[in-house]
Amino acid sequence: MADPGTRPGDLVRPGHVLPLRARDGGVLERPRPAEAAVELCTRAGLAPAAALATAVDEAGEVAGPVTLAALAERAALPVVRVSQVVAAHRRVAPSLQAGPLRAGASATLPTAHGVFNALGYAGDGAEHLALVRGDLAGPAPVPVHMHAECVAGDVLGSLRCTCAARLDAALAAIDAAGRGVLVYLRTRAAPGVGPVHALRGCAVVDENATALAAHVLLDLGVRSALLLGDDPGVGAGLPGFGIAVAGHRPLLVTPAADAG
Ligand SMILES: [Zn+2]
Repeated sequence: MADPGTRPGDLVRPGHVLPLRARDGGVLERPRPAEAAVELCTRAGLAPAAALATAVDEAGEVAGPVTLAALAERAALPVVRVSQVVAAHRRVAPSLQAGPLRAGASATLPTAHGVFNALGYAGDGAEHLALVRGDLAGPAPVPVHMHAECVAGDVLGSLRCTCAARLDAALAAIDAAGRGVLVYLRTRAAPGVGPVHALRGCAVVDENATALAAHVLLDLGVRSALLLGDDPGVGAGLPGFGIAVAGHRPLLVTPAADAG
C-alpha cells in the first residue's frame, strides 16, 4: 500500500489488513497512532504510509504500558509516545500551533453565573465554543473546564449523567474566580448516528477533544491551566501542546469526600 506503483490488482481483497486514514491535519488535529505513524514516516522522508500493529499480552489482552516496555526492551525497539510526536511537531512547525480551528463569531452571553464572552471556533466539521471571563493573559494559571457536549444532560437535564451539574458548577467556579474559560466541545455526528443515539451516552473529553481544546486555549493565550473537573485524567495531553497543567480542582466531588 505504501508503494505508489501499487495497483488495485496487486492487493488481495478482502484481506486482513484494516486501512486507517490519517487526518490531513496530522497529530495536532488528531493525536492518535495513525497520525503519529504517518508523521514519523514523513519526517524520515518516506511515503506517508505506515503499518500499525496492536500488541497483545500473554493472555491475549491489549498490552498495557508495562508489557509494552518489557517487549520493547526484549526486542531492542525504540518507544515513541504520541505525545512526544506532538511535542516534536510543535517544535518543528510552530506556525501550525494555531491548529485546524479558526476563531469565528463572538457574542456576549448573560448566564445565571454572570456575563461571559462566547467565542465560536470552527474547522473540524463542528463549531466549538469558548465561554471566556476576564483576562486570560499572564503567567497565573487560568481556571479551565473542558466540557464535551451532552444533549441529554446539558439541554434536557437528564439525571442519568452529571453533565448539567458539572456545566453549572464550572461556570459558577469561573464566576467565583473572576476569570477563566469553559471550552464547550461539540460532538460531530457520525454518519448514520441520529440524535436519539446521542441520548444514550455522554461523550468524553478524549485525546482528540483535548487537542481541539488545546487549540482554543492557545488561541486565547492560555499557557497554564488550573483544570476544573472531577476526572484527573482529562487534560493529560495539554502539556504536549505547550499548556502547563498547574493543578486540578474538583467540581462536584469535594477533596475531602473524594478522600473518604
Ligand atoms: Zn451527559
